[in-house]
Amino acid sequence: MFLRKTHIGKDKIQSVFGRIFRRKNFLRGVLSFCACLGMFCFYSWIYISVLHLETPKHARLRKEYEELHSRMNILRLRVEDVEATLEQLNIRDNDVYRSVFGLEPVSEEVRRAGYGGTDRFEHLTAGDFSGALTSMEKYINTVNKMAYVQSKSLDDVKQLSGRLGEMASCVPIIYPVFKENVQISSSFGYREDPVSHSYYKIHSGVDLSGKRGQPVFVTGDGVVKEAGRVLSGYGNTILIDHGFGYMTRYAHLDAVLVTCGQKVTRGEQIATLGNTGHSNGPHLHYEVIFRGSHKNPKNYMNSEMTAQEYASMVKLKEVPKKNKRKANGRKSSRK
Ligand SMILES: [Zn+2]
Repeated sequence: MFLRKTHIGKDKIQSVFGRIFRRKNFLRGVLSFCACLGMFCFYSWIYISVLHLETPKHARLRKEYEELHSRMNILRLRVEDVEATLEQLNIRDNDVYRSVFGLEPVSEEVRRAGYGGTDRFEHLTAGDFSGALTSMEKYINTVNKMAYVQSKSLDDVKQLSGRLGEMASCVPIIYPVFKENVQISSSFGYREDPVSHSYYKIHSGVDLSGKRGQPVFVTGDGVVKEAGRVLSGYGNTILIDHGFGYMTRYAHLDAVLVTCGQKVTRGEQIATLGNTGHSNGPHLHYEVIFRGSHKNPKNYMNSEMTAQEYASMVKLKEVPKKNKRKANGRKSSRK
């Protein structure tokens, strides 16, 4: 009976010790694992944060990022080169090509205007490169717009260059009267009012004084835009539209020999010199207008042309006995 009890107690003791032993091994394993994990995290923190060393993946991503950044910078430099070339072309276009053919210069706003409307760069607003990509896309978009406007402008110039011969005969480049028979009594620019002498104002043309009834000739091919008493103070007036941005005005006329809408050619007599309107003596008030702005007519009157050359070019007209044609004041339909 005693021996049996002793045998049972021994098994139990062995079983209890076995469980304790296995539990200890398990706890030891868990502790070892946690210690290893802690050491790994600690060394990683030292590696990255203290020593500022990179993991292989981080190093590869950084290299790719730098390469992309470098490529974008090169691309931006190339676009800047294209933009600089376009800028030079734009300046030459406005100052030379369009100017020569009497075209309005294209403004900077028009050349650089965007496409407007919806946000075309919405797809680029996410990610690390979104700012740089959006900026680059907008930049390229502007350069494309500049190239398009420049191309359209050169199309206009090309079209006009085909009318070079027509333009040469339309630009007002001769004296409107026999220069031997007149003298410039008032130049272009600010002057005292010739009648009241009480104030100064801009004189938008030149005054060519001479005898009443002298022939007045149109200085370039064109179409009569206005004829008659149109502007207060100018008396009998003729306005000619020469195209290519040019217009000329002849004022204080005596007889008006053309009507609105009539085509005229350089050297054709269109009127006689007079003293009508706000005038203190017989003279021709002559204006040259280019793109809506008054220019000094003296710069357009060819002084090298001899009297014989001038006489052979002009065509005199018979002036009515009444010496005054009733002005109709209608405007031409030509734009
Ligand atoms: Zn005048």
